[in-house]
Amino acid sequence: MADLRIDLHAHSRASDGTLPPAGIGPAAAAAGLDVVALTDHDTLAGWDEATAALPRGVTLVPGVEISCAYRPPGAPDAAPVSLHLLAYLVDPQHPPLRTALERVRAGRTDRGRAMVASLQAAGHPVSLAAVLAEAAGGAVGRPHVAAVLARAGLVPDPAAAFTPEWIGDGGRHHVRKTELDVVEAIRLVRAAGGVPVFAHPRAARRGPIVPRSALPELAAAGLAGVEVDHPDHLPEEREQLRSEAADLDLLVTGASDFHGSRKPVALGTCTTHPDAYAALLAEAHGSPPRRG
Ligand code: AMP
Ligand code: ZN
Ligand code: FE
Ligand code: FE
Repeated sequence: MADLRIDLHAHSRASDGTLPPAGIGPAAAAAGLDVVALTDHDTLAGWDEATAALPRGVTLVPGVEISCAYRPPGAPDAAPVSLHLLAYLVDPQHPPLRTALERVRAGRTDRGRAMVASLQAAGHPVSLAAVLAEAAGGAVGRPHVAAVLARAGLVPDPAAAFTPEWIGDGGRHHVRKTELDVVEAIRLVRAAGGVPVFAHPRAARRGPIVPRSALPELAAAGLAGVEVDHPDHLPEEREQLRSEAADLDLLVTGASDFHGSRKPVALGTCTTHPDAYAALLAEAHGSPPRRG
């Protein structure tokens, strides 16, 4: 495994990426990767299509990026903080995991409907049908609403929809998603044989972040690692997170969080060290990696 190139976070059209799941393996090969993880938001729907289209020599790590919320212990009235939990190599048939993901996905559709209703109430000509068409059967997310807003000429480009006037966190037409409690989600992923990793813990650009003091609590619940090398993390944030991970014996991963043409980040922009990948594989027993 010495010199493998490994990217453990990528989205397809099963959520808010722009490549079909079948395009992920070929894109990984083109980027010079040996290993790529498919981690769509709250769905495993792309796994089989991605596996069937793997080029020879590329390994797919099946995964999912779960929408979660952190509530500080002893502060029941504090606003929950949203975060993303990557889960690798879970058993796709594990009934409690399937049920939980179905609930979160249904919540995404309902929330898409609620954001459209809020926009319509303010007189903006957008429709749920357009948002659902943009999502094309995948898990519905704000990027789909943002694309519809841009196409309607209401914002200059989709990124401009992530502001307080539109659907940025806490914005005028933002509606919260259904999210799993992160401690429960970590336990659920472990119960499904998977390996839970905290996605982009310091990506403050996207909204409020979980306090540093939460990491020991998440580690105690069974968190396996933290995504340190991520395009949204500054160098000093990475170094701080790397040392926190070392203190807690957590794995350090790196990944691009590729979204196809929806984000200007290429596959392989950040990568995971082969030793961390080997350690991650050793902790998994829900579903094997898939070799092309
Ligand atoms: P959702 O999970 O539906 O709330 O949508 C969150 C997704 O929107 C993230 O995974 C990103 O892909 C994208 N996103 C979040 N913040 C921004 C931003 N400021 N600009 C562009 N895309 C963003
Ligand atoms: Zn996304
Ligand atoms: Fe994320
Ligand atoms: Fe992501």
